[in-house]
Amino acid sequence: MQRTLILLKPDCFQRRLLGRIITRFEDKGLNFVALKLLHITPKLAKEHYAEHVEKAWYPTLEAFITGGPVVAGVLEGLEAIAVVREMLGATSGIKAAPGTIRGDFSSSRQMNLVHGSDGEEAAHREIALYFKPEEIVANTPAIATWMRAADE
Ligand code: ADP
Ligand code: MG
Repeated sequence: MQRTLILLKPDCFQRRLLGRIITRFEDKGLNFVALKLLHITPKLAKEHYAEHVEKAWYPTLEAFITGGPVVAGVLEGLEAIAVVREMLGATSGIKAAPGTIRGDFSSSRQMNLVHGSDGEEAAHREIALYFKPEEIVANTPAIATWMRAADE
């Protein structure tokens, strides 16, 4: 089992797409173990996007990500990090394949609706940025026995 951080970004919230996007993750069989609404501060934005702070487009990214409420969540599942990244599609909604979340809902390089951790190290770091250990609720849904084989 693997855990990954997702952020339903301010465009997702403002466009009232939270329910439809969350449904896609639930339909896939991923399991929420943490979920909350928050407003990202400039300080948290710089920590989250540390690798991009020096980029020319960082100021607009910070303005976007701090510009309204976001939903942060931790999803659990087999190979959840790669599964979520595949579901999101390419970074730019203009390039993302139809059928992916960004491909279906975004036509922007920046306003691409959802963040997903890009590897194990990032997932660890990002989950700790948004959630205290006690905010993570381990749970196995009753339906799990019909979602995957016991030895997977
Ligand atoms: P991803 O979210 O797919 O991991 P990156 O880590 O490359 O993508 O970029 C982080 C976020 O910064 C993107 O999701 C997007 O919102 C924004 N972004 C990426 N590239 C650009 C760009 N060229 N101009 C403006 N915003 C960008
Ligand atoms: Mg990234």
